[in-house]
Parts: sequence; C-alpha cells; structure tokens
Amino acid sequence: MDFTISNRIQTIVDMIQEFVEAELIPLEPDFLAKDFRELLPVLREKQEMVKKMELWAPNFPVECGGMGLSLLEHGLVSEALGRSPLGHYVFWCQAPDAGNVEILHDHGTEEQKQRYLNPLVMGEIRSCFAMTEVDMPGSNPVMLETTAVKDGADYVINGHKWYTTAADGADFAIAMAVTNPEASTYRQASMIIVPTNTPGFNLVRNIPVMGHEGSDYFSHAEILFEGCRVPQKNLLGPEGHGFVIAQDRLGPGRIHHCMRWLGIGQRALELMCKRANERVISPDGRTLGSQQTIQNWIAESTAELHAARLLTLNSAWQIDNYGAAAARDSISTIKFMVANTMNQIVDRALQVHGGLGMTDDTILAFFYRHERAARIYDGADEVHKSSVAKRILRKLSKS
Ligand SMILES: Cc1cc2nc3c(=O)[nH]c(=O)nc-3n(C[C@H](O)[C@H](O)[C@H](O)COP(=O)(O)OP(=O)(O)OC[C@H]3O[C@@H](n4cnc5c(N)ncnc54)[C@H](O)[C@@H]3O)c2cc1C
Repeated sequence: MDFTISNRIQTIVDMIQEFVEAELIPLEPDFLAKDFRELLPVLREKQEMVKKMELWAPNFPVECGGMGLSLLEHGLVSEALGRSPLGHYVFWCQAPDAGNVEILHDHGTEEQKQRYLNPLVMGEIRSCFAMTEVDMPGSNPVMLETTAVKDGADYVINGHKWYTTAADGADFAIAMAVTNPEASTYRQASMIIVPTNTPGFNLVRNIPVMGHEGSDYFSHAEILFEGCRVPQKNLLGPEGHGFVIAQDRLGPGRIHHCMRWLGIGQRALELMCKRANERVISPDGRTLGSQQTIQNWIAESTAELHAARLLTLNSAWQIDNYGAAAARDSISTIKFMVANTMNQIVDRALQVHGGLGMTDDTILAFFYRHERAARIYDGADEVHKSSVAKRILRKLSKS
C-alpha cells in the first residue's frame, strides 16, 4: 500500500490546519464557558467561510454538495479537524450526521433524499441516530425493546432510547426499532426516519455526561417514543435490514472517529511539549522537559501516535480498496487501540500541566472528560478485542 499524500490533499490539510488554528482554537474559551447555543451565530459565520473556501463537507459525495474525498483522504483531513472540538462541526462532517448522510445516500428513496439528505448536506438541518436503549445492552444491539408496529399506512413506535447524540435541535432522528420480531435475529430491526416534531417523540432530557449536560449539537439525549406515528414510507432501506445498514455506517464511522482522536492526541502532545519547555521547576532554571519521566512520555506518545496513525490509514485504505467487511479485524483493532492511545496521551498531557490541567484554562480537561467515552461508544473496547481474538483463534484452529 502507498500512503503518499497527493499535493491536492496536502494543500487541503494545510488550509484546514491554518483555519483551525486561526479561527476555531480562539473560540475555545467561549466554547468551554458558555452554552453551545450562544456560539451558533459565530459558528455559522465560520461555516460560511468554509463553504467559500470550498472545503465544505469533505467526506460527502460530490453530487450532493460535498468534496467527495476517499476514506483515506478524509482520514487525513479528520485528524487536522480533530485538533479542536469545533473542527468537524464547522466543516460539516460531524457524527452522527456524517453517518446519517452515508446511509441516506446509499439507502434512501428519492423522496427521502429530497426531504432529508439534501438539506442535511447543506447544513440547513441536523440529525441524530437513536439505537441505544436505557434498559438493553448497547454492546449486544440485537437486544432491542423498541418496536415499530404497522397500523394502516403508518408505523407506531414505542421505546426508550438514550445517548441519542445531538437530538437537541435535530430535525429528524434515524431510529432503530423491531419491525419483524419473528424473523432471524439480525433481520428483526429496521431503520425508520422520525421527524423530531412528530407527536410521541419525547426528548426527556439532555443527559449530564461527566458533569455537563450540554445543549444543541453538543449533547446526548434520552428519548421516549410513545405511540410515535410516522408514515411507512419513512422506512430506510428494506424492512428488517436495520443491522445490515448499521454495519455500512459503522466501518467508515470508526475511521472518522479514530482520525479525530489522533488529532486530539497530537494537540495534547504539543500542549505537553509546550508546557514541558516553559515550566521552570527549579531555581537554576531547569524546566519540566529536563526530567526523564516527562521525556519518556513525550517520546512514547510520539511513537504511539505514529503507530496509531499508520494503522488507521491502513484500515481506511483497506476499506477504500476491499470494502468494510474485508477490513473488519483492522477496524476493530484501531477502534480500541487508538481510543486508548488518545486517552493515555491526554492523561499524560494533563498530568504535565499539574493543577492547570484540571482547569478549563486549557482544552485538556475537556478532552479528558469527553473523550473517555471513546472506549465505550461504537463498540466498547472489550467487545472489539473479543471479536478480533475469536476470529484469530478460529483461523488458527483450522491451520
Ligand atoms: C458519548 C456517547 C455518545 C453516544 N452516542 C450514541 C448515539 O448517537 N446513538 C446511539 O444509539 N448510541 C450512542 N451511544 C451509546 C453507545 O453506543 C453505548 O453506550 C455502547 O454501545 C455500550 O452500550 P451500553 O452503554 O448499553 O453498555 P453495556 O452493553 O451495558 O456494556 C457495559 C460494559 O460492559 C462491558 N461489556 C459489554 N459486553 C461485553 C463483552 N461481550 N465482553 C466483555 N465485556 C463486555 C464493556 O466494558 C461495556 O463498556 C453513545 C454513548 C456515549 C457514551
């Protein structure tokens, strides 16, 4: 495989890096101190700038208004954007909208594309994805209690979801619900588009996560579907194909997350180095960076980030060339490996900052709080490790 970066992509990555540095990082103190909604006007201005630079929606297909980058190319862009928590949102390639665009593009009807996909790609509306349930194990998503029962020309949905990221302010949800309880395990559930203003779509609360309930895009909601009635034409893809479509969504989505985490890891490493160079710890002028423990952390973090980046690019390359199914083990491996690498580096960087690291005067405490979840969502570490190990054991038992 060849990871040579073309001049075009290098130029794009450089432009994005400059933009993040000049336009988004200066907004972070407000991002940390204020309600996210208060930032929306200034973020819209930044989004207009991104559109003018023709860097809007880097991973979305060209025919619906994106840049149409390959997964490998988008991986590189995603790392540059990941340096700031605002990056993906301002360039419009944030989860869960990015995944919803992909599945609407691949599985939506013409009517669904007109009504939901086109305005979503243009940034006129937002969406969310409601699969995980309060009383069921998200780690085994075939265990769903939410049902969608046919009644006349409609589905009537009942169920209790949570962790529906960005539901607050979203125009529609893609909900996973059991439509075919008699079918085989993986054919029981379907994806259904539910406009959030439908009666019976009840946003109970934004869940406080690590002490912060957030708002609008930066929030995770608990949703109660109570007799929520939507037309059957809101079914996305064939009935009973919810898990098949979910698989399409999760492979590339994990590359996006991993590359974003690499951007976070790289920023944390740079903050660690800056602090190590500047913090004087003895009267003779020695700095933190003169201490071997800190040097070890810097060297180890650099090596770990580089290894994680190469593994992630390799997975993206496999998906681009052979499809997500062929890259299954690779995707699972990077999912737990990169999440832990990023968490470890953020932890070291915070430690190097001492008391300052615990404050919101740097972005590190935000990363520490919010990115801990990387080891849980899109498959917990243990589940990915177990599935990789099982396949290796099966393969070796045959040889
Ligand atoms: C910040 C955040 C955002 C999220 N966004 C969304 C979203 O937008 N939409 C959505 O539908 N969901 C979302 N989720 C939910 C997420 O996908 C689930 O939390 C995840 O799948 C785990 O499910 P669970 O919480 O029910 O944990 P459980 O399934 O109860 O598992 C709990 C723990 O048990 C362990 N475990 C589970 N299974 C095994 C096993 N087989 N072997 C060993 N150990 C195991 C793991 O350590 C796991 O963390 C989000 C979660 C978070 C934290």
